[in-house]
Amino acid sequence: MTSTTKYIFVTGGVTSSLGKGIIAASLAKLLQAQGYRVTIQKLDPYINVDPGTLNPYEHGECYVTEDGAETDLDLGHYERFLNVPTSQANNVTTGRIYQSVIQKERRGEFLGKTVQVVPHITDEIKHRVQLLGKSGNYDIVITEIGGTVGDIESLPYIEAVRQLRWDLGANNGIVIHLTLVPFLSAAGELKTKPTQHSVKTLMESGIQADVLVCRTEHNLPKELRRKLALFCNVTEEAVIQSIDASTIYDVPNLMLEQGLDKVVLEKLALKSITPDITGWNKFVERHKNPKSEVTIGLIGKYVELQDSYKSILEAFIHAGAENEVKVKIESIHSEYINNDNVKLKLEHLDGVLVAPGFGERGIEGKIDAVKYVREHNIPFLGICLGMQMAVIEYSRNVLGLKNANSTEMDANTANPVIDLMEAQKSVTDKGGTMRLGAWACELKKKSAVHDIYKTDTIKERHRHRYEFNGNYKAQLENAGMIATGLNPDTGLVEIIEIPAHPWFVGVQYHPEYKSTVANPHPLFVAFVKAALDHKKNSKGVSMAQN
Ligand code: GLN
Repeated sequence: MTSTTKYIFVTGGVTSSLGKGIIAASLAKLLQAQGYRVTIQKLDPYINVDPGTLNPYEHGECYVTEDGAETDLDLGHYERFLNVPTSQANNVTTGRIYQSVIQKERRGEFLGKTVQVVPHITDEIKHRVQLLGKSGNYDIVITEIGGTVGDIESLPYIEAVRQLRWDLGANNGIVIHLTLVPFLSAAGELKTKPTQHSVKTLMESGIQADVLVCRTEHNLPKELRRKLALFCNVTEEAVIQSIDASTIYDVPNLMLEQGLDKVVLEKLALKSITPDITGWNKFVERHKNPKSEVTIGLIGKYVELQDSYKSILEAFIHAGAENEVKVKIESIHSEYINNDNVKLKLEHLDGVLVAPGFGERGIEGKIDAVKYVREHNIPFLGICLGMQMAVIEYSRNVLGLKNANSTEMDANTANPVIDLMEAQKSVTDKGGTMRLGAWACELKKKSAVHDIYKTDTIKERHRHRYEFNGNYKAQLENAGMIATGLNPDTGLVEIIEIPAHPWFVGVQYHPEYKSTVANPHPLFVAFVKAALDHKKNSKGVSMAQN
């Protein structure tokens, strides 16, 4: 079989959390900047069909693609780095592989045969890996294998990679193995043994790594690289160090300095030129040299875990760089906010974002927070559940509908200002059944959002079952909360604003998923700008003057 698309497989050894996703995204960036059309795919070795049903504590944020796939948060990094949308095909789990093999079995597609891990599961994995390549849209597909070599769950993936390398032929499929070179402070030494062992484990499965990327806290001396090359059967220039960086946005340059792109292209028999990452570097420059600072409160119930709101945090980094402002995020647990302490917790903030979420825990704290920022003119951005809380707060405290609520929290509320969407009423399965993916939204002329987006129609990504109840629209609008974004087909309210407030916007969709380095999201950019204005107006000081 000859292949026109080239494949790069990224495996991990020694431990998880070495940053495979960031290495894959950084390499992809460098290849893209040399004119190659690149995409990245993540294979996740767990049995959930997708991460949509996983708690953020288990798995961090669930990222949503344009086509409505609920995916691993690494896909967010891929989009933020490459500025190219991903799709359902970019994230495949063991659950999905088995589901499709079992469905084929039930349809009789293997009639007469015993269905086995090899070849049926491995064939399905190979098929999924090549789907993106066969689309004709990409010169290079980078496939990141989740987990660590040697895990029971990873075995079918590693076997599929072994077979694919053979099928694809020389120079068409290479393996980058990411490992850890720990520093033992008692011995004062960097240790290569864990890397040697993990390369050996890979070899036992029939895979020789072509490139080693070694995560380390200290520079790897030349002798140590030579030793690794010798013991692991790779060339010396194919031993790349991945040193801890102060920001993930430094990693493409760190990889460029180490020549990762060059080694990879050479092994794939592709031409390499100096990548043009001027735009990227401008962003990094602005990100690292802010002229002032704002503090934004992130109010949610998963704030202990950074990964739960990954895309929101990254969108603030993009928007901060755009405004040349450092955005300091103050995470505030919504469960611990109440009427008595809300002033103490929020009064010093320059802006408040109320986060997405599900279920009842922590929602009264969110409502108290919205009330405070609304009454004190602090810029507010509510995302999904955050927008719904803003509607509930306004209904209760301005319209005087005392028991206003979402039917998600109180099924029998007398005033269901947020209610289950019509299309959701017959849904019983939990997995993959929310309103998902990108939907059009028409912006009302002369609204804040129309000014911000500078267009009449936008497309943003959704992930929810509940919605603004249209029966309350007239009442809310008369009282000053205006629906400024509507779905053109259904009339669903996707955006609310309070024009009398300096900056108060709630969106039913998730703008954070679409913010990239090359395209910082306009709503986040405007929100950070509003926070800066608020700071200047209320305190009359900027960091430069401090
Ligand atoms: N729980 C709410 C709903 O399903 C909000 C979801 C979210 O914030 N993503 O409508």
